[in-house]
Amino acid sequence: MNKYIMTVGLEVHIELNTKSKIFCSCPTDRDALPNTQICPVCMGLPGALPTLNRRAVEYAIKAGIATNCNISLRSGIDRKNYFYPDLPKAYQISQFDRPLCYGGYIDLTSRGEDTRVGITRIHVEEDAGKLIHEGEKTLIDFNRCGRPLIEIVTEPHIHSPSEAREFLKKLRNIIVCTGISECRMNEGELRCDVNLSVSPVGSDTLGERTEIKNINSFAFVAKAIEQEYARQCAILEGGGRIRRETLRYNTESGKCEIMRSKESAVDYRYFPEPDLADILITDSDVEAIRTEIPELPDQRRERYVKEIGLADADAAILSSDLALSDYFDRAASVTEHKRTVANMLISEGLRLSEGEDFFCPIAPEKFGRLCELFASEMINSSTAKKLLVRMWSEPALEPDEVAESESLWQINDRSELEKIAVAAIEQSRKAVEDYRGGKSFALKSIVGKAMAASGGRANPRIVEQLILEKIK
Ligand code: ZN
Ligand code: MN
Repeated sequence: MNKYIMTVGLEVHIELNTKSKIFCSCPTDRDALPNTQICPVCMGLPGALPTLNRRAVEYAIKAGIATNCNISLRSGIDRKNYFYPDLPKAYQISQFDRPLCYGGYIDLTSRGEDTRVGITRIHVEEDAGKLIHEGEKTLIDFNRCGRPLIEIVTEPHIHSPSEAREFLKKLRNIIVCTGISECRMNEGELRCDVNLSVSPVGSDTLGERTEIKNINSFAFVAKAIEQEYARQCAILEGGGRIRRETLRYNTESGKCEIMRSKESAVDYRYFPEPDLADILITDSDVEAIRTEIPELPDQRRERYVKEIGLADADAAILSSDLALSDYFDRAASVTEHKRTVANMLISEGLRLSEGEDFFCPIAPEKFGRLCELFASEMINSSTAKKLLVRMWSEPALEPDEVAESESLWQINDRSELEKIAVAAIEQSRKAVEDYRGGKSFALKSIVGKAMAASGGRANPRIVEQLILEKIK
């Protein structure tokens, strides 16, 4: 299938967590009963006039700054006209040809190879209502109608399902960092449309593209891309041509189904919204908003390298997952041995954590303390790892208490270690001969004996050194 290169651009809708809607003062409470957060404005009653929510614009600018966009000091507001039951006005207030933010990018770095994905634009718009299908009936909840959204449109710079997934994950991390949305996908706070085309390797023009609408999980995005790429390749291989179509990803069948073809494409008849003026921003507005943005993933990565001295690859891993980097920062705050915390999280923590995002049931301060016990040679590495696994299933355990009550403290006392080393050598005549005969690996079995005799508590570094001195 590698005859064709896939090219993907994404359109991501993110619901902003403002207290009120974007063009009226209705609340945006998610737990409210259906159709209780509505007013003449968001219901589109004749004569009702919209007022722009200043906070929604500030939030969109935050998203723009955090994704390296330019901010338009004057941007337009337009009507996008279409008929659908979840849209009482029969048009959506959006931004068409003069968006609020444009020309940004996000760098993907966690795979070692740096890729830059361009952000074409970010604009503000209102959400539509929600259709709830119950058997033969369809119910409409207008509470969501008029909630503020940003739409983030990327350049076609993505070329694999895993890249798309990494981009979305990083975008979500950045947005969550800025505090403008929690981006909970199961709540529909982040929804993704995929534009995909294929072209023969070596060709410099893109093929006809299709659009897959409204996917609400990163895993489904990756699957939909894989499936649509295969479908388009198969059509081209069979001598057919790709038609401009809008598709829907069916999560049950795992297939992309055609929603509408280009022939029946909607003409949105965009025109400037007559009830709202242009959005005017000043440079000092932008600067004031910039100062409110906290440390972002890329800055974290830099801090880990510069201040903590982590290898860049490790810093990239830790900063690629917001839950993981928050956890690391808290765990590392209780000890000087921050690199040990990083190593332990990456080698052991990530293995024990399941699911898309990092999760560890142990309080980060306890995790940090465990790493400190190991780094300061109070327990050895195998004890530390075993203790971590136990704490993972019993988060109430205190590392110091367990080490004390079960006598897990590492033996660092030289005279005690001498005795252990001598005993191990006496029990390993064959291995000692082998070692002296040039088989250096035989040392391992002697050290192993010493460790076993100490109940795994001997300081492995010192005990090995003592054994070596005696059998040389
Ligand atoms: Zn309203
Ligand atoms: Mn949109």
